Amino acid sequence: MIGRVRGRATNGASPEDRFADRRAEMVHRQVRSRGIRDPEVLRAMGSIPRERFVPPELADRAYDDGALGIGSGQTISQPYIVARMTEALGLAEWAAAHPVETARVLDVGTGSGYQAAVLAALGAEVVGVERDEELATDALRRLGALGMAVDIHVGDGTLGWPERAPFAGIIVAAAAPEVPEPLLAQLADGARIVVPVGTRQHQELMMVRRAGSRLEEQHLEPCVFVPLIGRFGFPEG
Ligand code: SAH
Repeated sequence: MIGRVRGRATNGASPEDRFADRRAEMVHRQVRSRGIRDPEVLRAMGSIPRERFVPPELADRAYDDGALGIGSGQTISQPYIVARMTEALGLAEWAAAHPVETARVLDVGTGSGYQAAVLAALGAEVVGVERDEELATDALRRLGALGMAVDIHVGDGTLGWPERAPFAGIIVAAAAPEVPEPLLAQLADGARIVVPVGTRQHQELMMVRRAGSRLEEQHLEPCVFVPLIGRFGFPEG
């Protein structure tokens, strides 16, 4: 051998590209075919390397049609559910009504950070609350590596993040016995919260929109999430 070609050793595929086909297929089969049509949501889901949000040994299953364990007994939500919740948040409607503002969105139960990344890819300013410090630290590192500046507060997300309120949207990725009151109080006028409400075993995905002092409720679909543990959630244990 006379010399070596420096740089990329393979056929040009960067490590992420290994997943490009699976990512596109996930968006098509699991998201679009099931009725999610918001082009921005489809684009955002197609742009986030989900394999980076799961433990390395599960990277090959990152685009499976289900939730996956991320450690500490927690999960990264199924891609379809992330898409459904993101679409139901209605950020396009918010942006149309507030053309010069960046939408600030609260992500309760940040977990792996995947949902936060999808929201950031939509152009939102994302702030997260996660009760598990280790998950929060990992999520911050992953989001930082993707160049996404997301603030994550370690604490009880059922209390929201009053210092950063009001929010253009709130997504709760864990099941609550009812919509936590402090979160409703932190919704801006015209903003929506998307949250699974029910028992520890099964829930209904709900969307609540604030219209002045009125709250408009919509039931979206049945779902199963890990419990939201906190003052306005379920008790621990
Ligand atoms: N959005 C996450 C899903 C994580 S699962 C993702 O995309 O990966 C739900 C998360 O909610 C878990 O990480 C759990 O630790 C967290 N959680 C449960 N109760 C909470 C509370 N009261 N405040 C903040 N986070 C909470």
